Amino acid sequence: MKFCNSKFLKIFFLAVILSGILLPYPVVNAAPAIKSVTFFKRQYINLRTIANVYGFRLFKRSGRLYMTGKYHEFSFTPEKMTAAFQGVQFVLSHAVYDNKGVYYISKTDYETILMPLINRNNMKRHKVRTVFLDPGHGGRDVGAEGRYYYEKVLTLKLAAKVRTYLKKAGFNVVMSRRSDGFISLKDRAAAANRSKADIFVSIHFNSAANKKVYGLETYCMTPAGAASSNSTKIDNKRYSGNNYDRNNFALAYLMQRSMLGYSKALDRGVKHARFLVLKEVKIPAVLVECGFLSNPDSERIIGTDLYLNQIAKGIAHSIINYKKVAEKAGL
Ligand code: ZN
Repeated sequence: MKFCNSKFLKIFFLAVILSGILLPYPVVNAAPAIKSVTFFKRQYINLRTIANVYGFRLFKRSGRLYMTGKYHEFSFTPEKMTAAFQGVQFVLSHAVYDNKGVYYISKTDYETILMPLINRNNMKRHKVRTVFLDPGHGGRDVGAEGRYYYEKVLTLKLAAKVRTYLKKAGFNVVMSRRSDGFISLKDRAAAANRSKADIFVSIHFNSAANKKVYGLETYCMTPAGAASSNSTKIDNKRYSGNNYDRNNFALAYLMQRSMLGYSKALDRGVKHARFLVLKEVKIPAVLVECGFLSNPDSERIIGTDLYLNQIAKGIAHSIINYKKVAEKAGL
C-alpha cells in the first residue's frame, strides 16, 4: 500500500517518539489546583471553591458550617479552630475566617488536613510492614502520676497489647523499650530512624491540672508556618517530621476514630504538636494520649484490662486501615 512506504513509517515513528517526549507526564487523580487569596499575610482558600471543585454541598446550620459529599462530612465553626470529619474532632492550624459571610480556610489546613481526608491519592504511597511502638517514659521518668498508676507502667502494658494484635495481623513490630528503663526522647527518635520501621506510634497517658478533664487525643506533627494546637507560637521551619504531613494527619485521624470506636471514650480530637519524637522521626508518626490519669474516674477505667484491650485493638485496627490507604495512595 502507498502508506506503507519507508518514508511514511520514518515520519510516523518519529512522531510517536516525539509525542512521548512532549506530552505532559500523566498524573492520575491529581488534586486540582485551587486559587488562594491573602488575608493577614496568610494564604486562604474559599470553602465554597473547595466544595465546588469536589462536588460537595456547603451550608450553614445552627452556627456551624457543613461541607458534605457522598463519602465526606466536614463541619467547621466560623472564626474557630475546632472542626470535625465524619464526627471525629480535630483542631485546625488557623481559625476559619469569616469574611462577611464568605468562609475561608487556610491553605495550610487545606493541604495538610482536608486534602488527605478527601482523597487518599493526595498522600504519599509507602509500604506498611514494620511498626515502631514507643511506650512513653520509663525508669526514673515515671510520666503522669495517678492515685494508683504511673504512666510509664501503663504505656508499657498497652504497647505490649498493641504489639500482640499487630503481630497477629502479620506486622513486624519494633519497640523503643520492652522493660522499665529510661530512654531520652532523642534516642527514641534516633532508634525509630535506624529501625527501618514504616510508621511510628508513641503511646502516652495524659494529665491536667483540672481534674475534671478526660478523653482521648491523638497528635501529629505541626505543619511549618503553623502554631501547635496548645500554643500560639508559629514556627516556619520544616523538620524531618514534616516529610509526611498529609500521611501523619490521615494516620492520626484513623487512630483517633478507631480508639473512640472500640472504647467509647470522649473525643478530645486530633491535634498538632511539635513533640520532639514527632519532630525528628523521618516516617509517618503519631502520638496517642490514651486518657487522663489526673481524673480519678478515668484512672479507674484506664487501669482495667478491658479498657487497655479496647485501646490496643483500636490502635492496631487503625494501622491495618492505614496500611490499606497508604499502600494505594497516589503520590
Ligand atoms: Zn507521657
